[in-house]
Amino acid sequence: MKITVLGAGRCVTGSKYLLQWRNFSTLLDCGLFQGPAENRRRNWAPLPFSARQLGAVVLTHAHIDHSGYLPRLVRQGFRGPIYCTPPTRALLRVLLPDAAHLQEEEARYANKEGYSKHTPALPLFRMADAKAALRLLEPAPFHEWIELNPGVRFRYRRQGHILGAASVEVQTKVSGGARRSVYFSGDVGRYGVPILKEPESYPGSDVLFVETTYGDRRHDPRDPYELLTEVITAAVRRGGVILIPAFAVDRTQEILYILHELMESGDIPGMPIFLDSPMGIEATAMYARFVSEHDAEMREYYDRDENPIFPPNLKVTPSSAESKKLNGVPGPAIIISASGMATGGRILHHLKLRLPDPANTVIFVGYQARGTKGRRLVEGEKKIKIHGQWIPVRAHIESLGTFSAHADREELVLWLSRRERDPSTVCLIHGEYGSQQAFAELLRQEYGWEPTIPEIGDEIVVNR
Ligand SMILES: [Zn+2]
Repeated sequence: MKITVLGAGRCVTGSKYLLQWRNFSTLLDCGLFQGPAENRRRNWAPLPFSARQLGAVVLTHAHIDHSGYLPRLVRQGFRGPIYCTPPTRALLRVLLPDAAHLQEEEARYANKEGYSKHTPALPLFRMADAKAALRLLEPAPFHEWIELNPGVRFRYRRQGHILGAASVEVQTKVSGGARRSVYFSGDVGRYGVPILKEPESYPGSDVLFVETTYGDRRHDPRDPYELLTEVITAAVRRGGVILIPAFAVDRTQEILYILHELMESGDIPGMPIFLDSPMGIEATAMYARFVSEHDAEMREYYDRDENPIFPPNLKVTPSSAESKKLNGVPGPAIIISASGMATGGRILHHLKLRLPDPANTVIFVGYQARGTKGRRLVEGEKKIKIHGQWIPVRAHIESLGTFSAHADREELVLWLSRRERDPSTVCLIHGEYGSQQAFAELLRQEYGWEPTIPEIGDEIVVNR
């Protein structure tokens, strides 16, 4: 088998790996490059294979950096099955149309402002492409072998990173009936976090592709319950409203869960919680729906007929009219809204209204990338431009670094530690090069492995 790295090689977006075996080819993940413009330009590069002749796509999870190129692939003639777990399919039905909407909006805006080098500016794909991609989704349950082509099969294991996230084991038949296996970690989830079942460990394989997003770091070890108790108690004392910008998928549900537990235990006072993000509301409904993915603590809640991610004090505001009514809500109250880095979405309206008042508090619960409004606020800027207007920042700003959907270096090692055999080839993917070098060194010391760090365009050949 030959594997070509087409994305997330020495970087963290655009996950795409082309697997070729005899006359059959399949793409493992089909992600968009995201972030700075020089990254995003890669989405326009021609594919080094024919989309029409590609046999299948196998997805690890729904995040756009693993799935967002699907509409573009379909636009170029791909008509094969796109395998994913059933919860991933449910999430994609929300995420892919949203990605198409953003593409169309961006092109429209570029044409209006005249800043595109292309005239007219074109979207990478359109809504019709996203809908066509959704029709090709083929749900594959965890743990079941699925035959991709005679002699090639794969199966999913739970990865705990977000709802539906999986690792993928691909096997090919070789002479004498033996099999060779290639294992893709996907994005590795964390241990001991609420709602979802824990990651299932790496079982061993001939070849291993493992992500390294946090290959050189540990997450803030402080207890998220204690941190939230501290900042919310102080916020309630100030008397204002608490804004929590949060990613719609996973972070929103985790925060809802923890807030519910803290209010139940009396660590923080009960107060209304508003979830003001159409995508966050849909994602929360999906998290609630896939009971099979929930851990034991979640099931204990169900036995008591409670749902910690849809508690009685939670009000959802899907329409923009309902959202606007939140402008009159007095403290103490919590408003959770997207986007998580304040790059767009309804959170901007809330920030515009609430930032000038020192009684209010904004709590960031995720990584804030350079260049985002979230990063500027966390770094203490005293005024910020929202919708073309300078807004003074007098509200209290907090940033909690303990939340992440990715395993850190210790958790990556833990995920790898329970294997039954060692891989003969190890490829580090989905990480910045510095982080990958640090993790390679760790694997050399811990296990005596000699990992390679492929670049985009590199080919890895698995012996026949
Ligand atoms: Zn992910």
